[in-house]
Amino acid sequence: MSKYIHILLAAILFVTISAEQYYLVTVKVDDSSVQEIRDHLESKGFDISGYNKETNRLEIITDTPRFLEKECSILQKRNILFEIDEIVSSESYESYSNKRDNAEDYYGPEQTLNELQQLEKTYPKWAKLFNLNEWLGLGSTVEGRSLYALQVSLNPDLVEDEAKIVIIGQHHARELMTHHAVLDSAKDYLKRAQQGDAKFLSALENSAVWFVPVVNPDGLAYVFSNNRMWRKNRARNNDGSQGVDLNRNYSFKWGACGSNSSNGSSDIFKGPSPQSESEVKVMDRLNAKLQAQYIISYHSSGDEVLYPYRCGFMAEANVYNDIRDRLANHVGFGKRVASSSGEDFEHHYGLYGSISFLLEIGSSFQPSFSTYENRVWPSVQKVLPFMLDELTKPHVHIKVLDKDTGKPLAASLSITEINFKEQEQRIADEHGSYRWRLVPGKYNLSIKMAKYKEHKIIIQAGGQKSNYFVELEK
Ligand SMILES: [Zn+2]
Repeated sequence: MSKYIHILLAAILFVTISAEQYYLVTVKVDDSSVQEIRDHLESKGFDISGYNKETNRLEIITDTPRFLEKECSILQKRNILFEIDEIVSSESYESYSNKRDNAEDYYGPEQTLNELQQLEKTYPKWAKLFNLNEWLGLGSTVEGRSLYALQVSLNPDLVEDEAKIVIIGQHHARELMTHHAVLDSAKDYLKRAQQGDAKFLSALENSAVWFVPVVNPDGLAYVFSNNRMWRKNRARNNDGSQGVDLNRNYSFKWGACGSNSSNGSSDIFKGPSPQSESEVKVMDRLNAKLQAQYIISYHSSGDEVLYPYRCGFMAEANVYNDIRDRLANHVGFGKRVASSSGEDFEHHYGLYGSISFLLEIGSSFQPSFSTYENRVWPSVQKVLPFMLDELTKPHVHIKVLDKDTGKPLAASLSITEINFKEQEQRIADEHGSYRWRLVPGKYNLSIKMAKYKEHKIIIQAGGQKSNYFVELEK
């Protein structure tokens, strides 16, 4: 079949391109070649912001349209339908938004913090706001900001020995729907609990949900003041460029495969070393403390559920993919494997056992706020209740204590039948607890800790007994 290509880049090729000039390029693609085009452009370092299934358009944000043109001509030779139909140059979100004149609009970092403080005030018994950088004893961002989390639970000022979920937004500065998705999920949870909804009340009693709307506050401020297409944080790189892609900087399998770059000026720069960025250190330390059972990390756009691993062996694919399939079905999203290693959801699963997904919400880049409210929020609203249901499914709860002192031990756990090959770790939390979602059956569990004798037991998943107390001897 004869396919063709139209490249309408000529007009902008004569424009002088400053370092800060970004272009949102909308590309019409043939449905059957989306994955091939995505893989090809990602392998060349382009950031695919999203794919709109309704209009068959890929959205690509680039500061190198000449390079994109070159890649287009390569695709032309491969007979892929590829038509660039719109190019929009960047400006600050503030000025862009003034032109749109929306009554309601997306929040910057201060408004988001205000909103979190309001929730803590309105629901003092159930909601507690944490300045994560202070609480975890870590330095602030390069521009002096902090990340904040709202814990929603009974006794919300304590980290209790109970199942946990973390809902995360806005690793990527310009993905403005994503912190609203997290804020609105927190509001919805608290409101429904107050109305006496049994599911939410029982979740409040038996678990904790941590809401972290903004992982990249410096980037978010920069989107509002300078460039609405900015993606990374505001780190100053050694080569004079700025910004690290926070969702390429996590240490687990850092830089192993997929779309990430060692070039500081790339939009998918993985950083100078694993976990070099304070924002990423905060999120890693938070989950080291919480060891959440489930994590949702919101991005935009594409209406997709992303799952691990981009490369490597998934030893728990049965359990993981079952939840993934049901979640995607429940929300009406498609499925796609991780874009790259070094993303938060691969990290939180690899090091802390959290079953984690990245959700690409919405079908286009920065739609109007009313589109977010009317079209995007209704699907996001289904996610947290689904995850709360998962918490009620049988988990094996292992609790490890010192036999003499009764103190909890951060012991290392392994199961013979689960053959990890990617240096995954399973370590009990500060209460000595680990909650493991397993396919029903019998398992050989081994518990190890430096200076203690190894302890081996057989555990049963999906049976009557789900709690195993283990005492280690020196
Ligand atoms: Zn993103």
